[in-house]
Amino acid sequence: MVAQQGAVVIVGAGQAGGWVALTVRSLQPDRPIILIGDEDHPPYERPPLSKDVLAGKASPESTYLKPLSHYAEAGIDLRLKSRVTAITPDAKTVTLASGETLPYEQLVLATGMQPRSLPLPGADHPRVRTLRCMEDLAPIRKFLSPGHKIVCIGAGFIGLEIAAVAARSGCAVTVLETAPVALGRVVAPEVSAAIVQRHKKQGVDFRFGVAVQAIEDNAGAALVKLADGETLAADLVIVGIGGQTNCHLAREAGIACDNGIMVDAEGRTSAPAVYAAGDVCRQYSLALGRTIRLESWQNAQNQAVAVGKHIAGAPEPYADLPWFWTDQYDDNFQIVGAPERWDRVIWRGSPDDDKFTAIYLLDGRIVAGNTLNNARDIRPLREMILARAEVDIGLLQDTQTSLIKIQKLQAAQ
Ligand SMILES: Cc1cc2nc3c(=O)[nH]c(=O)nc-3n(C[C@H](O)[C@H](O)[C@H](O)COP(=O)(O)OP(=O)(O)OC[C@H]3O[C@@H](n4cnc5c(N)ncnc54)[C@H](O)[C@@H]3O)c2cc1C
Repeated sequence: MVAQQGAVVIVGAGQAGGWVALTVRSLQPDRPIILIGDEDHPPYERPPLSKDVLAGKASPESTYLKPLSHYAEAGIDLRLKSRVTAITPDAKTVTLASGETLPYEQLVLATGMQPRSLPLPGADHPRVRTLRCMEDLAPIRKFLSPGHKIVCIGAGFIGLEIAAVAARSGCAVTVLETAPVALGRVVAPEVSAAIVQRHKKQGVDFRFGVAVQAIEDNAGAALVKLADGETLAADLVIVGIGGQTNCHLAREAGIACDNGIMVDAEGRTSAPAVYAAGDVCRQYSLALGRTIRLESWQNAQNQAVAVGKHIAGAPEPYADLPWFWTDQYDDNFQIVGAPERWDRVIWRGSPDDDKFTAIYLLDGRIVAGNTLNNARDIRPLREMILARAEVDIGLLQDTQTSLIKIQKLQAAQ
């Protein structure tokens, strides 16, 4: 007789938590699975929140991984509006805010992140908003119509995506950024300049190298005060300055954390039978040969699927190369690879074009690539990055030869 296996308990019913549950269920039809989330929605994908859902072109429900009814049908005990307040790896239990204690055989922490708030006076003004979850949408959408002034603090992806939707909605948009460039952590300055240029064509105003000092009230609206003395009136202030990982459950349980819950290539934390997946974890990447924490749709799905397979006894190495996309206006911009350094960027097309590919090299080898409206270049770039390919520079610059062809030539060498 086969002994009944204990429960897989998953904390965090977001994209990663949802995929762990769905994967375990697909491999272990009878395994007890409890998926606990503190939001009001079944697991959903967040990217459309700052794009089509914000713009009113897609419904909130279209972001769900599966309809709510699927979980009961699949025998997954989905507990929404439930918060886990503690985990106890020694006793193999989790404690809920309701006081209930649940035993687990394997535990997955998929608690994601929360937006960083401005450490400034007035940051709690009601017109100052962040965007992470469904409930954040309504107070933002209220101001997305002609005549409203929107100030976005932070020129990262979320700030730029909201700026694009706001500009398209007829708002007057200003983006403030402390750094001298947008997207400074992830793309080369010349690529970032090309993206900023596309926003400027849509009427978005940018201020780089500025420091916000305070937010003041302006008859119910907001007044953004800059360190140089300038003030900007805003009907809405969007703060997009990155996030903080929800690591506290792990840290309080003595699990190793370092800007994320530390996990090995299989998703195992430092505590026995405790895994982590998604934005919350820093993982040893087989593709990069170092640890990395990723905030991306691809990672939240595929890494979680890998954890689910491992738990269900069908392990497969997770060796994806990081990949990220963003949609702004009618543009699709993609990034493949996550290099710490590069020493040269080769352009196929020019920064002013509506379509280009930028290839990042280090010591003559391809380490990353960006495409603007040119997604078909992503696959050959991925192959060449993984192959640590040394490719003839003249060939890379020759736009008459497709990257697919270059990759095939390189693979045949
Ligand atoms: C607005 C926005 C736009 C994005 N756009 C893109 C994009 O264009 N491309 C891309 O690649 N990526 C994008 N991302 C990133 C991508 O959405 C994230 O990487 C992904 O959502 C991470 O999934 P996750 O499951 O790790 O975390 P989350 O989706 O954040 O899920 C974590 C869940 O755990 C819950 N939780 C936390 N603590 C507890 C607790 N103690 N008890 C119970 N529940 C708890 C949280 O409330 C949340 O529901 C975007 C993200 C955002 C916010």
